[in-house]
Amino acid sequence: MTANPARYDSVAYRRCGQSGIRLPPISLGLWQNFGGNDVYETARAMIRRAFERGVTHFDLANNYGPPPGSAETVFGQVLEADLAAHRDEMIIATKAGYTMWPGPYGDYGSRKYLTASLDQSLRRMRLDYVDIFYHHRPDPQTPLAESMGALAHAVRQGKALYAGLSNYPPDLTREAAAILRDLGTPCLIHQPRYSMLDRTAEGGLLEALEDEGIGCATFSSLAQGLLTDKYLDGIPADARMAKGGSLPASRLTDAVRDKLLQLDAIARARGRTLAQLALVWLLRDPRVSTAIIGARTVAQLDGTLDATRHLGLSPEDEAAIESVLG
Ligand code: NDP
Repeated sequence: MTANPARYDSVAYRRCGQSGIRLPPISLGLWQNFGGNDVYETARAMIRRAFERGVTHFDLANNYGPPPGSAETVFGQVLEADLAAHRDEMIIATKAGYTMWPGPYGDYGSRKYLTASLDQSLRRMRLDYVDIFYHHRPDPQTPLAESMGALAHAVRQGKALYAGLSNYPPDLTREAAAILRDLGTPCLIHQPRYSMLDRTAEGGLLEALEDEGIGCATFSSLAQGLLTDKYLDGIPADARMAKGGSLPASRLTDAVRDKLLQLDAIARARGRTLAQLALVWLLRDPRVSTAIIGARTVAQLDGTLDATRHLGLSPEDEAAIESVLG
């Protein structure tokens, strides 16, 4: 593939915590729509389009699919077919922490699981190394030092360049960060769920990340698609909510729909879509290094990436949004 030489010109990359890495304001996640059960050419087109538009950061995990593992396989195929010459221009992240294979060593946070899982991810993606290896969720049964030791080991082996944490609460994040720092492999990034509809991260996590110099990659930044205009008049047949998976229809309460309608009106009055407003709102905070989004079509991806054409939120707009979010 001949990549557009101007692809980096209009993207305002953001520093990831206190590290040397800069990330695009919007990154592409491959949780859904990139698996073996999806259409390969659509997945390929979205990855290529993202790269063409300066998206350098791609977020995966061992279990993304379905079937689990297949998003990494698809991504590896696209890399080989189209982007092999650009590997050094990309930040490729994967994770382990959720159920991946049967038995006691295919889940959570043991050194055994994390180490074997990363090897499997590298094989599926046909890579020598990933840029970021995350522990996907805390493991109450495994000593934190063991899980962090496994991340540090992966970095020392050269199988990952940086360590990351996801879904860790503030105190545990501080503890994990201290261990990783002591091991000489500081935590680069944390991945929390954060959007206009889920502001848990504002309850101490963002503060912890700033104190520790850790970057923040928000996930489900569009609340799995709720923060788009598609649910304003019901549930479209092709939408995630109609598929009976990770976004149950019970999430679309009257109160939520009412908020979405008000936010949509604010967005339209500013010449933006609701999805764009949701991302501009997240990126108003410099502690957010990048907002990871998902997409099902190239058109969706383009619409979302257009948010970066006008970043920045006036105090009046922020106040108007705040009055809706409460
Ligand atoms: P989003 O909140 O961005 O939701 C993506 C969905 O929203 C799309 O699949 C599509 O759904 C809809 N959508 C996106 N753009 C538009 C648009 N412009 N117009 C209309 N609809 C749109 O993200 P995800 O929940 O998919 O999560 C993003 C990424 O975050 C994941 O891929 C993964 O990398 C990461 N993640 C990490 C987790 C963790 O534990 N660390 C957990 C979950 C996600 P539809 O099919 O309805 O059209």
